[in-house]
Amino acid sequence: MILLDGKATSASLQAQIAAEVDFFLDKGWRRPHLTAILVGDDGASQTYVANKERSCKKVGFDSTVLRLPASTTEEELLNEVKRLNRDDSVDGFIIQLPLPKHIDEQKVIEAVSPSKDVDGFHPENVGRLCLGLDTFISATPYGIITLLEEYGIETRGKHCVVLGRSNIVGRPIANLLSAKARPGDCTVTICHSRTQNIEEYTRSADIIIAALGVPGFVKADMVKEGAVVIDVGITRVPAETEKGYRIMGDVDFDAVAPKCSYITPVPGGVGPMTIVSLMRNTLKAYKAKHNLA
Ligand code: NAP
Repeated sequence: MILLDGKATSASLQAQIAAEVDFFLDKGWRRPHLTAILVGDDGASQTYVANKERSCKKVGFDSTVLRLPASTTEEELLNEVKRLNRDDSVDGFIIQLPLPKHIDEQKVIEAVSPSKDVDGFHPENVGRLCLGLDTFISATPYGIITLLEEYGIETRGKHCVVLGRSNIVGRPIANLLSAKARPGDCTVTICHSRTQNIEEYTRSADIIIAALGVPGFVKADMVKEGAVVIDVGITRVPAETEKGYRIMGDVDFDAVAPKCSYITPVPGGVGPMTIVSLMRNTLKAYKAKHNLA
């Protein structure tokens, strides 16, 4: 069994990005700039945004966090989005989800200029991804694809079972892996909460991508010998730790790992790959703006 080390892989990608930034600075250009909008005070969202800020610092990007109160109205948020769309000093920006219930998330996503949509959530970018056109691939699927690529894992002709059909993970990764591309060329099955007998699908999978948010869902008897298992899940479960919780993935790692050819750990697998992919998208936006792509 080989551990798919997202931490090490992302560190090496970060170093490559940092070297590119140094190159731009040597030419007298400004740094790439990522902005995050954080509405409210959700603990997990604050952690994710802090991680993104830290990552920006590591690769030499400027980063700004726009912290708005939970009482922000939809109109106020849309005005901030419009302002960032026009702000030439910002290459890309993200709106940390989830948003407070009184704000229509889809409306806000659609207000972001596709050229600054480094999360890849705008329908134009999602459509481009579905068509196999150049776009901002949303960070988590981008990170998974990169990890498969970096480890030289063959995907052509393989059966991939994706557990979860969300717009940010399940659907785009299913799309990418079924595309006529490398990594890609998989036969993909998407399972969700209405799928019956999920284990019948997972047992025939060469590659399992678990993105459900149900800790320990994938058990050893659901996985065939030699499978590649990618665990996207991040759930905070109460624990007697300093923070009062620990992070659990969707895979029962200790029982499943011995059967796998490759498996991602949680934490240290898909998580760091997601963040570095956001950095790659921001660099892509910066280059496009400066006609460097
Ligand atoms: P989501 O929007 O809640 O979607 C979860 C999907 O799993 C849904 O399609 C749901 O089915 C399905 N599902 C839930 N329980 C199920 C069950 N018991 N059996 C079968 N299907 C079930 O979640 P998400 O945003 O895709 O995220 C999934 C997990 O990945 C979460 O733990 C999240 O925190 C984590 N995540 C991690 C990263 C990272 O960087 N590592 C990034 C993003 C998300 P229905 O559609 O039928 O409801």
